[in-house]
Amino acid sequence: MSIASNLEAINLEVKALGVQLVAVSKTKPNEDIMEAYEAGQRVFGENLVQELVEKYESLPKDIEWHLIGHLQTNKVKYVAPFVTLIHAVDSFKLLKEIDKQAAKNKRVIDCLLQVHIAEEDTKFGFDHAELIEMLRDEEFLALKHVNIRGLMGIATNTENEKEIKEEFYELKSLYDGIKASFYRKNESFDTLSMGMSSDYKLAIEKGSNMIRVGSTIFGKRVIKHFKNND
Ligand SMILES: *Cc1c(COP(=O)(O)O)cnc(C)c1O
Repeated sequence: MSIASNLEAINLEVKALGVQLVAVSKTKPNEDIMEAYEAGQRVFGENLVQELVEKYESLPKDIEWHLIGHLQTNKVKYVAPFVTLIHAVDSFKLLKEIDKQAAKNKRVIDCLLQVHIAEEDTKFGFDHAELIEMLRDEEFLALKHVNIRGLMGIATNTENEKEIKEEFYELKSLYDGIKASFYRKNESFDTLSMGMSSDYKLAIEKGSNMIRVGSTIFGKRVIKHFKNND
């Protein structure tokens, strides 16, 4: 199967459901990205800052670049000039730095707050209490250069579908609760990023409206990247 036909197959499945597809191109060469681009794909996800910057500089300027991996505070400045959506905001400190760098670039940067839903401790993200605490914080409410678009999560890496579904259900419930309590009058809180190649069907079943799919489109990655790790 070619990249173009893989993309077509996924789009056929998800587009009618209103689910946005982020094509995860990490470790893949520019030629592969251009093949997807020629097939109409404009939204791409990367998880390493340096790789993202290099690809941004050498590829067409109408690509929307999403940073999907863990972001270190000291690297925010490199992506702030151009990034379209930051998926993995996992601390208040990071969000404040994004706000600061966005201001320097005279931008408002769209962000998703990453919630820790997996069993593994190794994964990043807020827990529920931390998240609610931040959403109520006056300092948070005063940030002018970040726009919170929704939540993101990564399920446990397991064959156990029941467990994965429970984790996605938990995140969808939290998303609905936060939307009702904190963003009722703010229509831009509209994005729930959950699901990757192995579990996007389950994620959509549980209410995802943005999926991050890499290997199903571009084939297996040769270089080992840790999930959501910088
Ligand atoms: C790599 C990655 C993906 C895509 O993984 P695939 O299994 O190749 O679809 C999705 N989300 C995050 C955060 C990733 O790091």
